Amino acid sequence: MRKNIIAGNWKMNKVLSEADQFIEEVAKKVPNNNNVEAIVCAPFLFLPSLVEKAKGSNVKIGAQNMHYEENGAYTGEVSPVMLKDVGVTHVVIGHSERREYFAETNESVNKKTHAAFKHGLIPIVCVGETLEQREANETMHHVETQITKALVDLTDDQVANTIIAYEPIWAIGTGKTASSADANEVCTHIRNVIKNVTNEEIAQKVIIQYGGSVKPENVEELLEQSDIDGALVGGASLKAESFLTLVEAGT
Ligand code: PGA
Repeated sequence: MRKNIIAGNWKMNKVLSEADQFIEEVAKKVPNNNNVEAIVCAPFLFLPSLVEKAKGSNVKIGAQNMHYEENGAYTGEVSPVMLKDVGVTHVVIGHSERREYFAETNESVNKKTHAAFKHGLIPIVCVGETLEQREANETMHHVETQITKALVDLTDDQVANTIIAYEPIWAIGTGKTASSADANEVCTHIRNVIKNVTNEEIAQKVIIQYGGSVKPENVEELLEQSDIDGALVGGASLKAESFLTLVEAGT
């Protein structure tokens, strides 16, 4: 059976002292339970400190982006080698905000996913449709394209270890959540797409998270769905207490 993975995505929030305070509280209280995994994806600057403070606890630390190159003349960028070196375990790739504001494409998402595996990081690959696409009935096709392109030339084993986050863009930060049934329908479709590029056994192993205004009030219903195996959470992951409630719901 698949476990639930609850990942906080802090985006561009907090300063170092707030980040440290959060992790000190969460590291102490996060449950030691095989059914759930907790990850905090934070701004680059906080990562070494968070990794240090999370040591020995059940919280893993992730980045929110990276470059696919290992090093070189890429001013302002951070490489997978650097992330691995400081003890980061996960990296969010292709978040809709990066696709929209920072020219992330399906091709760069695929390159970054390969780079993550090459350097021993687990990618959390984000996909999802805009409101216009949903209203035009293009959700399934759009998500299928994003998934297939993200997974190009990965081995079956790598696909099995990829975390997918389905995040309808219209539900991110808006307070609007997709209904559990609608979210699950897309997640089931994603699993079928994965089955088509690999096989049933691999598809059944892949963790598919839902993201978009997940909060303590709606997380349980979402996690009860057959193809939703966790959540990628922005706003509600910023407070330790709320993050811990979400993790608890995954146990
Ligand atoms: P939200 O963000 O939970 O604030 O909607 C989710 C995300 O963008 O990952």
